[in-house]
Amino acid sequence: MKLLEGKTAIITGASRGIGRGVALVFAQYGANVAFTYSSSVDAANELEKELNSQGIKAKGFQSNAANFDESQQLAADVLDQFGSIDILINNAGITKDNLLMRMGEEDFDKVIEINLKSVFNMTKAVQKTMLKQRKGSIINMSSVVGVKGNAGQTNYAASKAGIIGFSKSVALELGSRNIRSNVIAPGFIETEMTAKLDDKKVAEWRSAIPLKRGGSPEDIANACVFLASDLSAYVTGQTLNVDGGMLT
Ligand code: NAP
Repeated sequence: MKLLEGKTAIITGASRGIGRGVALVFAQYGANVAFTYSSSVDAANELEKELNSQGIKAKGFQSNAANFDESQQLAADVLDQFGSIDILINNAGITKDNLLMRMGEEDFDKVIEINLKSVFNMTKAVQKTMLKQRKGSIINMSSVVGVKGNAGQTNYAASKAGIIGFSKSVALELGSRNIRSNVIAPGFIETEMTAKLDDKKVAEWRSAIPLKRGGSPEDIANACVFLASDLSAYVTGQTLNVDGGMLT
């Protein structure tokens, strides 16, 4: 029996990067995968095909995680089409970096809405189903930046630190119903989000990481498998740094 067999996972923001990596690894472990994206229709269709070819049930949904009503609709559709919601991975996220001096109100609000409010939206949307099932694992994607802060990312850091407080509170509220809530704080993971960064800066970062490399989406996906599966049945309210030792 595969580790995630028979479980249904919702993964937000899986058309690219870390989310895509998590979806592919979850399929290998036997999970059924409902994933979302914002605008990458072709990439999402391709991923849906690839996942279905692995013998699990998979479907991509174009759904804005920052929108409360769309999140409610998504959870209802997934429950209807998949029959259960066992795992929620709040992964969708964006950056709009700037020094505080130059950051506009719109760029602050947008990052908070997509990165943090989305976690509220989706957790609310699956809560009833998980309560009824008396089980569930919620995994929220924070960042090393949410733990430590970063110049030029006040909006992003605030959203990612907010996720940690939210997640711990959910762990306390829902623990008695066997619903677990944990955070993963990735370090520097090489995806499109980080491909935007300056090459010299990236080389400096790599050499400052104790494991001397950037992480891959699979590195994050493997940590998600642990937190999603019954292997972590007694783990809740935690933040797992998956960062090559960056915060050590
Ligand atoms: P990415 O490559 O930029 O992919 C972002 C994903 O989120 C895409 O699938 C995108 O869909 C989706 N998305 C964006 N806005 C959305 C919305 N409003 N509703 C639904 N989906 C939305 O990012 P990534 O590097 O994989 O990062 C994934 C998560 O890990 C983020 O929360 C990020 O903050 C966190 N993280 C990343 C790193 C890193 O080094 N990469 C480090 C720490 C934390 P479309 O393709 O349709 O736009």
